[in-house]
Amino acid sequence: MSLTPEEQIRYSRQMMLSEIGEEGQERLKKSSILCIGTGGLGSPALLYLAAAGIGKIGLMDPDLVEASNLHRQILHDTDRVGTPKQASAAERLHAINPEIEIITLPGKFTAENSLSLLKDYDALLDGSDNFPTRFAANDAAFFLKKPLIHGAIFQFEGQVTVFAPHLDGPCYRCLLPEPPPEGAVPT
Ligand SMILES: [Zn+2]
Repeated sequence: MSLTPEEQIRYSRQMMLSEIGEEGQERLKKSSILCIGTGGLGSPALLYLAAAGIGKIGLMDPDLVEASNLHRQILHDTDRVGTPKQASAAERLHAINPEIEIITLPGKFTAENSLSLLKDYDALLDGSDNFPTRFAANDAAFFLKKPLIHGAIFQFEGQVTVFAPHLDGPCYRCLLPEPPPEGAVPT
């Protein structure tokens, strides 16, 4: 999958890195990621993934943009308040990089639909804000042998890691075997 002249220019600075080069950029172009959530975690991740030239990005977020989201969910502009987050995110990402494919997937990522959603992507990025989704994400990535990029924050602390049990690492359930009871964990 070779690069177009426009892509050669767009990615020229990161292709100067010997670890990337043209070959690495072509690999990014043919790679894909599914991102759950376009909020505080998904926003910065998606902006960089799109700008860097990941060829196909799938998006899921059933919520609407709220004014109280804007200070951290930097994908969404003020004039998008009240509109679906997914469409807001897709429009912004497309504006940043029209060379890539952005796919919006309706509904929520659940244990029921997770395998059929993830099977078309190379990796899963969990930017969700609840435990049922986090466990569904882990289990789908585990069974499909795909890396799960995981992030979580609480106030001024954050965690980020990649779970890759198919490469002999632990999975999310190794860290947290059971979902905590509802209401036990602050937002
Ligand atoms: Zn495990």
